[in-house]
Amino acid sequence: MVLAEITNFAALRRHLGCARADLLTADVVSRFAAALPDARLSAASRSMVELTMESGEASDLDRVLERLRELCDAPFNLEGEEHRLKAVFGAAVGRASQTDDVRLVEEAEAALLEARGADGAVKHDVTGPGARELRRMADELRVAIAENQLLLLYQPKVHVRRQEIGSAEALVRWRHPERGLVLPGDFIAAAENGGVIDLLTLWTIRQAIADQRRLSAAGHDLRVFINISGQLLADNAFVDAACHLVAEADAKLGFEVTETSVIRDPQSAIANLQRFADIGIVIAIDDYGAGLSSLAYLKQLPARELKIDKLFVTQLTSSNRDPLIVRSTIDLAHALEMEVVAEGVETHAALALLTVMGCDMVQGFLISRPIAVEALMTYLEEDRHHQAPEDTRASFNRLATAWKRG
Ligand code: C2E
Ligand code: CA
Ligand code: CA
Repeated sequence: MVLAEITNFAALRRHLGCARADLLTADVVSRFAAALPDARLSAASRSMVELTMESGEASDLDRVLERLRELCDAPFNLEGEEHRLKAVFGAAVGRASQTDDVRLVEEAEAALLEARGADGAVKHDVTGPGARELRRMADELRVAIAENQLLLLYQPKVHVRRQEIGSAEALVRWRHPERGLVLPGDFIAAAENGGVIDLLTLWTIRQAIADQRRLSAAGHDLRVFINISGQLLADNAFVDAACHLVAEADAKLGFEVTETSVIRDPQSAIANLQRFADIGIVIAIDDYGAGLSSLAYLKQLPARELKIDKLFVTQLTSSNRDPLIVRSTIDLAHALEMEVVAEGVETHAALALLTVMGCDMVQGFLISRPIAVEALMTYLEEDRHHQAPEDTRASFNRLATAWKRG
């Protein structure tokens, strides 16, 4: 949503009179409508135009604002006389399913207020859950990191053929003093926008190294995978710090990155991924299939694992199309000499199908939910002594049968 306000409207009205000044606002509306046919437009007041539109990309807002500014800068012709408008813009962007109208209007109004203060400057800093809220949360996160409120849970990845747990993914949680356990979906975006993601990720690396040492001391030599936000792949200071931590500890780590994070700034992303790979960090491509898949980039990445997005995996046995996509993804990854991990494996049926398709590793609620490092240790002990809980054992048995049949 964009609110465009004509700031010299009062002056124009004194010059033109009420009726003709109102015509100017109507002109602005029709100019916007002609240039942006997808937008819904209305005059919010005599001097203000409201514009709403839906788009797949939040970044489209920048283009829209630039276009609106151009449209307002061009002179308006009223009965042969030229007039110049001065306009400011307050914009708010949110997710269609998550942001209600009232929220969006309030955020756009807040942005407009800031734009007025900056005298004509375009403000478009309101996104997703609300820019102010994100900023507040980012500040809170800084405290959380310093006061040890974060914790890591681990979700094992099982090697299908070897029937053993070869690695585990670290997933961050926030033990919030008031709100209880908060999931990453509710704070990673704030960490990214608020410039805390580097601190947070360096904390996860340190914690993962410490946890891995504990596992290793108990005889469980697992590689621990960490999620790395895309923006960090272009952050050389972060990459230096991360490499230093990992090299110094001689830790067996993996980094999961999404393809979209590489597409943003391919050159520096690829160079930095190579630096990670050079010191023994295994690179896994996360959420494959969820974003804009680009085979050209895939080939250039020093990645050893490809993780098929859980969206395809959870629907594997109920859709006609997804098994095809999964199967061809597995073949493609193997052709590129990568191992394939299916995430979101929730049912025996999905596991059996993936096994037959030649998927190398599986991860999901069927095998284990994300669990604390102590619980992972117990799980590994039980697995070692073949005393796995009933359902896990059953899944392994079926797994073996399916494999032999395949
Ligand atoms: P992700 O990397 O795709 O992680 C997998 C998510 O799917 C996890 O949610 C996990 O709990 C969930 N999951 C695992 N198995 C299943 C299953 O069988 N079915 C279904 N429906 N879901 C399953 P979680 O822990 O809430 O993490 C959400 C996202 O947050 C992660 O997605 C990752 O992108 C991000 N994230 C988590 N930890 C970190 C971190 O330390 N740093 C960064 N930058 N991002 C993180
Ligand atoms: Ca991941
Ligand atoms: Ca994933």
